Amino acid sequence: MTQAKLIDGNAFSAGLRDEITARVHEIRDGHRVTPGLAVVLVGEDPASQVYVRNKNKRAAECGMTSFEHILPADTPEKHLLTLIEGLNDDPMVHGILVQLPLPRHIDSQKVIEAIRPDKDVDGFHPWNVGKLAAGGVGLIPCTPLGSMMMLRDHLGQLSGMKAIVVGRSNIVGKPMAHLLIRENCTVTVAHSQTRDLPGEVRAADIVIAAVGKPEMIKGDWIKPGATVIDVGINRVPAEGGKTRLVGDVDFAGAVKVAGAITPVPGGVGPMTIACLLRNTLTAAARLHRLDIPEAHPWN
Ligand code: NAP
Repeated sequence: MTQAKLIDGNAFSAGLRDEITARVHEIRDGHRVTPGLAVVLVGEDPASQVYVRNKNKRAAECGMTSFEHILPADTPEKHLLTLIEGLNDDPMVHGILVQLPLPRHIDSQKVIEAIRPDKDVDGFHPWNVGKLAAGGVGLIPCTPLGSMMMLRDHLGQLSGMKAIVVGRSNIVGKPMAHLLIRENCTVTVAHSQTRDLPGEVRAADIVIAAVGKPEMIKGDWIKPGATVIDVGINRVPAEGGKTRLVGDVDFAGAVKVAGAITPVPGGVGPMTIACLLRNTLTAAARLHRLDIPEAHPWN
């Protein structure tokens, strides 16, 4: 039985980080600019603490300056907004990321909108959302950007293909749909109210799964030879009282039918941080009006 090609996000992201490191050294040596990433965490959520630590570690490995701001869970919203104002004005900081979710007493949208759009390396500010939707140049959310880079690398041209995005969140589904439209795909966006989801998925040459439901998309929903990008990260119980990570796609079933598929873990996940670094480099280059080739020149 043939097996789908595995799209290796660990290898791809390592290559991307190498390119970014080379560019960071170039602009540091040639222009005396060191890209700086500020990551802000409010509260003690253990998973968020791990994400923030990893982001800073990876930024430092690429030669960037990383600034970590860890605030107590009861930090007043006003205090957080003042910190962001300071980061907006700080010439050493080119990228600002506020780790989500925020504690309930803080209005996340207000915080996102307080970040300068040209430093908004998560790409969640309405200005960047609008640029992506209208086909302009802004900063693109990291997970869809990483997914698109892998698709382009695997498929080359996407023009004319049928794509389905399962999930319509602001951080993954909607920006992914816009990126696919930009690549001239014919795009279906499915969600919890979609009728006949298996039938919709079966029509697609490209399947993006961003649902947050473990192994929901079955192998026999996949069109033979389709390319499957599994964005889902779900922790499920495993033998011996342990847990394991699975995606939104039933990998064991899909790998027998698809042409190519991203595994979980080791697929989209590692691309997200690599794209955060790439966005920070892009933001630094634009802020200093440096005409350098972007790492992995695709935007
Ligand atoms: P989300 O905000 O919870 O959105 C989930 C989407 O799936 C919603 O649009 C929802 O539809 C839809 N949905 C739920 N049940 C469905 C069903 N039965 N059939 C069809 N659609 C259904 O999730 P998210 O933030 O986009 O994240 C999605 C997944 O990606 C999660 O597993 C998350 O952990 C993972 N993720 C991974 C990365 C990474 O770095 N790899 C980054 C971000 C997220 P409605 O809109 O109708 O409710």
